[in-house]
Amino acid sequence: MATFQAPKGTYDLIPPYSAKYLAVRDAISGPLRLSGYGYVETPGFEDVDLFARGVGESTDIVTKEMYTLTTKGGANLALRPEGTASVLRAALEANLHKAGGLPVKLWYSGSYYRYERPQKGRYRHFSQVGAEAIGAEDPALDAELIILADQAYRSLGLRNFRILLNSLGDKECRPVYREALQSFLSGLDLDAETVRRAEINPLRVLDDKRADVQKQLVGAPVLRDYLCDACKAYHEEVRALITAAGVAFEDDEKLVRGLDYYTRTTFEFVHDGLGSQSAVGGGGRYDGLSEMIGGPALPSVGWALGVDRTVLALEAEGVELDIPASTSVFAVALGEAKPVLFGLVTELRRAGVAADISYGGKGLKGAMKDANRSGARFAIVAGDRDLAEGVVQLKDMESGEQSPVALTDVVEVLRTKLA
Ligand code: ATP
Ligand code: MG
Repeated sequence: MATFQAPKGTYDLIPPYSAKYLAVRDAISGPLRLSGYGYVETPGFEDVDLFARGVGESTDIVTKEMYTLTTKGGANLALRPEGTASVLRAALEANLHKAGGLPVKLWYSGSYYRYERPQKGRYRHFSQVGAEAIGAEDPALDAELIILADQAYRSLGLRNFRILLNSLGDKECRPVYREALQSFLSGLDLDAETVRRAEINPLRVLDDKRADVQKQLVGAPVLRDYLCDACKAYHEEVRALITAAGVAFEDDEKLVRGLDYYTRTTFEFVHDGLGSQSAVGGGGRYDGLSEMIGGPALPSVGWALGVDRTVLALEAEGVELDIPASTSVFAVALGEAKPVLFGLVTELRRAGVAADISYGGKGLKGAMKDANRSGARFAIVAGDRDLAEGVVQLKDMESGEQSPVALTDVVEVLRTKLA
C-alpha cells in the first residue's frame, strides 16, 4: 500500500480542530468588514519579479524563502510568500485607485508559502488574514488598522499580546540614517553575508536575532534621532489616536520588519506565550511600493495577521473558543422510516437547523451512537409504528427525556427549542 504524508513543513486542518481556524479568520475579518474594507482574492502565484521588486531583493523572503517555478510556457512564477504586493498589483491592474475616492480599503484571507526551516509556529504553508488601505497618507488610517487588529485579537479572548510600534522614516530622513548606520556597521566584525546585507539594506541588520550580532549593535545610531519633522509629527499623531482609542502599545525603536517596502509607521503584534515564533502579525506603511512595482505614487498602509500562530496563541492562553456544535438535531430511523426522516432532515436544514441522520443501514444501537457522537442537542427517533400514528419521538440528549411530537409540528418545535 502506498502511503503519502503532507509535505514537510505543512499540516492538514482536520475537524473538529479546523473549526478554530474558521473562527479565527472570521474574528480577524469581522472588524474589517465593519470598517469599509472590501474582500479581494488574488492568485496563489504571481510573476516572481513582483515579489523580487516589491518585497525586496535583500530580504530573506526573496533570497531564501520563495518557491519559484518555471512553467512549460517559460514564465517565471513564485508561490505567493505574502499578500501585500499581490493585492496592490491587483488594485492597480483593476484601476481601483482611479475608480473613486481614496483610500481603496481591501481585506484578504488565504494561504502563503515560504521555504523555511519548519518548527512550531513556522511552516512552509501557512495562513494569513490581511488588510490594506491604499492611496492615502493619513495617520488615522495607520491608527485604524492597529485598532482593528487589537479589536480582532480581543474579540477572540486573547489578552497576553503586545503591540510594538516604530517609525522607519521616509525618503527624506531614512537615507541620512541609513548612511550613519552603514558607517557604524562597517566598523563591526560581521560575516560576509551580513556585510552584504549591510550594504543593501542596513536596517535589516538591526533585526538579526544572533546574540553575537546583537552584542555588537549596542550603541548603534537610532532612527528616532534622525526622523525629519514631518515623520515625527505623523508618528505622534498615530500614537495619539491609538492612545485615545484605549489601545496600549510599546515604542520599539529597534523594530524593523523583514520586508523592504516599509516607510514611517511599522508595527508588530507579539504574543508572549509562543516562544521564539512570537510574532502573530505585523504591518506598516509602504508609501513607495506602488512606484516600485510600476504604479503611480500611492501611499498605503496594511497588516497581515498569521492565523496559525493566532491559534497557537489561543492555546497558549488556554482560551476555548465558543464554537457551536456542528449538529443540533440527529435523526435515527428504524424500520421503513428512513425516507420520511430523511425528508424531515432536509426540511430542518432548509429551515436553518443543523441536522444530520444516520447512514449505512445501522440498527438502533449504532444509530444512537452516531447521534451521541454528533454532539446533537436533540435526536428524533421514529419507526413504523410512530409514523403510523403521525409522530416522531423527540429525545432530549442532555436529560434523556423522550416524548412524541406530531410530524407536522417537529420543525417548528425544534426551531423554538433551539432558539
Ligand atoms: P517572522 O519574523 O516570524 O519570520 P515575518 O516578519 O516573516 O515573521 P510577516 O511576513 O510579517 O512575518 O507575516 C505576518 C505574519 O504571518 C507573522 O506575524 C506570522 O504570524 C505569520 N507568518 C509568517 N511566516 C510564517 C510561517 N512560515 N509560518 C507560520 N506563520 C507565518
Ligand atoms: Mg519570516
